[in-house]
Amino acid sequence: MAIVKKREVEIMAQLNGEELERHIKTKLPATKEQFDSLFDYLEMKIDSQGCDHTSRFTMQYMMQKMMNFPKVSGWLSQQGGYCDCKILEEIAVPWRKIFDSRDEKK
Ligand SMILES: [Zn+2]
Repeated sequence: MAIVKKREVEIMAQLNGEELERHIKTKLPATKEQFDSLFDYLEMKIDSQGCDHTSRFTMQYMMQKMMNFPKVSGWLSQQGGYCDCKILEEIAVPWRKIFDSRDEKK
């Protein structure tokens, strides 16, 4: 059986609030706010234009916002986000779950 490396979103889901904050600061290539707005942007674009199975919207967004393009796209593909719809499906969905469930507990 192949050993599957745990994905970042799975690791993050198990951290407590303080650990999660530290993890984002030290391990992720952008801030939580940057990822939140990237995912919102992607969702809007995919809804209206669909995915052509490249990361074109992600790239557009990162260029507009001057995000660290090589680092962020490297991180996204490590998480299974090979194109815009996969980024939404594989990363944005569990990502939102992590933060939504925490907000509810407050
Ligand atoms: Zn796609």
